[in-house]
Amino acid sequence: MKLSTEQFKHDFEERLTSKFAIELAKAGAQEKYGALSSVVKNYYSSIWAADNHYKDESNKKQAYYFSIEFLPGKMLKSNLLNLGILDTVREGLSDLGIDLDEIALEEPDMAIGNGGLGRLASCFMDSAASTGLPLNGNGIRYRYGLFKQKIVDGFQVELPDSWLDNGNPWEVRRYDKAVEVCFGGEVWLEDDGEGHFIPHYQNQERVLAVPYDTPMVGFENTTVNNMCLWRSEVPKDLDLRFQNLEYMNQTAMLSSELYPNDSDYNGQLLRLKQEYFFVSAGLQRILHHYKATKQAPITHISDFISVHINDTHPALCVAEFMRLLIDEYRITWERAWNITVKVMSYTNHTILSEALEKWPEEMVKSLLPRLYQIIIEIDRRRTAELLPKVGAKLVHSTRIVKDGQIHMAHLAIIGSHSTNGVAKLHSDLLKDVELHDFYLIYPERFNNKTNGIADRRWSQIANEPLSKVLDETIGKKWRSDLKELKLLESYKEDDATLQRLQEAKYEDKVKLAKLIEERNGIVVNPTALFDVQVKRLHAYKRQLLNVFHIMKLYFEIKENPTADRTARVHIFGAKAAPGYHYAKAIIKCINEIARLINNDPDIGDQLKVVFLENYNVSLAEVIIPAANVGEQISLASKEASGTSNMKFMLNGALTIGTLDGANIEIFEAAGYENGFVFGLTKDEVYDYYKNSNYNSRDIYEQNPLVHRILDAFVDGTIPNISAEGQQIFDSLTTYNDEYFVLRDFNDYVRAQEALEKCYQDQKAWTQAALMNIANAGHFSSDRTIREYADDIWHIKAKK
Ligand SMILES: *Cc1c(COP(=O)(O)O)cnc(C)c1O
Repeated sequence: MKLSTEQFKHDFEERLTSKFAIELAKAGAQEKYGALSSVVKNYYSSIWAADNHYKDESNKKQAYYFSIEFLPGKMLKSNLLNLGILDTVREGLSDLGIDLDEIALEEPDMAIGNGGLGRLASCFMDSAASTGLPLNGNGIRYRYGLFKQKIVDGFQVELPDSWLDNGNPWEVRRYDKAVEVCFGGEVWLEDDGEGHFIPHYQNQERVLAVPYDTPMVGFENTTVNNMCLWRSEVPKDLDLRFQNLEYMNQTAMLSSELYPNDSDYNGQLLRLKQEYFFVSAGLQRILHHYKATKQAPITHISDFISVHINDTHPALCVAEFMRLLIDEYRITWERAWNITVKVMSYTNHTILSEALEKWPEEMVKSLLPRLYQIIIEIDRRRTAELLPKVGAKLVHSTRIVKDGQIHMAHLAIIGSHSTNGVAKLHSDLLKDVELHDFYLIYPERFNNKTNGIADRRWSQIANEPLSKVLDETIGKKWRSDLKELKLLESYKEDDATLQRLQEAKYEDKVKLAKLIEERNGIVVNPTALFDVQVKRLHAYKRQLLNVFHIMKLYFEIKENPTADRTARVHIFGAKAAPGYHYAKAIIKCINEIARLINNDPDIGDQLKVVFLENYNVSLAEVIIPAANVGEQISLASKEASGTSNMKFMLNGALTIGTLDGANIEIFEAAGYENGFVFGLTKDEVYDYYKNSNYNSRDIYEQNPLVHRILDAFVDGTIPNISAEGQQIFDSLTTYNDEYFVLRDFNDYVRAQEALEKCYQDQKAWTQAALMNIANAGHFSSDRTIREYADDIWHIKAKK
């Protein structure tokens, strides 16, 4: 959009007064943020309304991304950038004596997701809007986002994230679009005499779902998509007799809290209620909108909408869409089923068994009696149809209902036309191993969509120093087409460019060093090698491998404090699920190791360990640009894709990583010589599983370094971790080290040594960094979302 500095200043000052009855000189940061966000909302609102109108009129197919999590972070700068007014606003504010970066801090992170899965959903929202694709989000407006993490005495402490206290300036509450979602009670079917069974309900618990629309503003175009988030409320016409305290609490609870588990399924009733709540509300709204705007009959709906099931949490979409078509729209089962399969598509995000959702039949039956009938019928009909075709063994292994449980992934695969994994290796594993039996039955449904990241946020917004260097080296086209970064390759031998890349990195590191000093009171040297591991704390991600290597360095420095070596800063950020005691023990250990090392005068600047609390999107935007090395060290086969690996690459960090998830594609794109690969391959891991021949205790007993490091966790070398250290020690010796940490340790050390040696040659290092940046174009989620649009949803971009 067009905006002059003068116009902006006028709008801003006027809004400050009209909104807060205050003049600029007296306004605090909160008020300035409130006025600014309100002005920005005003700027995009007419574009949004026009695009909604266009979507209704043009009759083009739209897709809906159902996700129980989104993790957008802050929206202010993203909205400014995408509207094309970031520089104008920055300048206008500066004229008024206001620092944009400072008031941007007033916006709380929108953290209604745990980690990678939610962040991917938000990257997709940004990319869809920015590529002009009509993709809308559908989720839950949690009153409390992911807990805030404090580190107290080395331990993780969880505090509520009450992010809505000052309101949410971006959203629009649309009460007129509210729908009802019902739970429990009894249902029976009555023949209407025309071959149709009409369900009758009794004693149902009614909940009102109220949508809050948050605009997803496209980058320098006219597309504004919608992320619809549902809030649960008490229906206004509910008899007061039913409004007892328990009901009121239950209703409020539905959209109150985000479950803080990442890669872990938690079979609680409230979670199942949340899943049905946003699924039912979202589908109802889609159908209402269809009826209101389309002339076509409901049986043509698959020409106009696609519904995407992001992981299994929205898998009830399959059964709920069937219910709506059959019960509300009176469509026959066969037709309804064909429509449903055409409309639905599904992404699998993990093969970790603890994350695979299975709900007890009894629970589904009592909470969702009609859906239960439909699921049983889907399963029954499919079994009858397939038995003669594929045989009992395959049918049984792929049944939706078995052993008293409803398998949500099975429901999603069977009820949709597309199942995709999120990186090549992961998609192959699905076909060859984890979902092999489904692949045998439905080979044409399986495909890969390698994840990506919203590069505008992770580069243009997060890393201005680098963005400037890129502009001045290869021009500005990379800002709208990340593939353009490839042009950077021809500057690989250009000393001036390498110099400037180094300077930009240094500037980012100084900024992070400042933050570390402010937050943790640790002074780090920005010329040191910044080695970063930021992601959820999970055993499979193997933060422990990193920690063990740090202990090795510590021992070496203690033994020979004056030797010449590369100074290193190891930076961690990670939240552990509150009930995941093992992960919390690792956090405690990292913090105690940090305390031990950072306060040892023998160690000095040679090694620092920093745990930054409350890792979230905003913190990631400061940490990742400053990294020299990104740690992507999960056990091969466990990390479906990873996306922080892509953020690091784009910001010129070198990856040390296993051949897991999208790491493989990153190494291939950047060149294996521009990263550091180590560890077991996926096949080697599966061989160990097949032969059951891994014995971690042997390694502990035979490898003196491993022995010494593990002992440090239990012999007081690392103070204050007697219980936590013991738990870790036992998991790696007595309980046979589930994620092969000890097995991969030696090779990890080798890779770390190679990395350190490379860092000593700053020119070679910076050339490798350049090659990473130059080849990051493939990992833009603009590319990913276009693949979904073309191959799965069949939606077209607005021209
Ligand atoms: C990108 C991102 C993640 C995902 O990180 P992985 O290393 O891919 O697991 C998690 N949390 C936040 C805040 C992120 O920005």
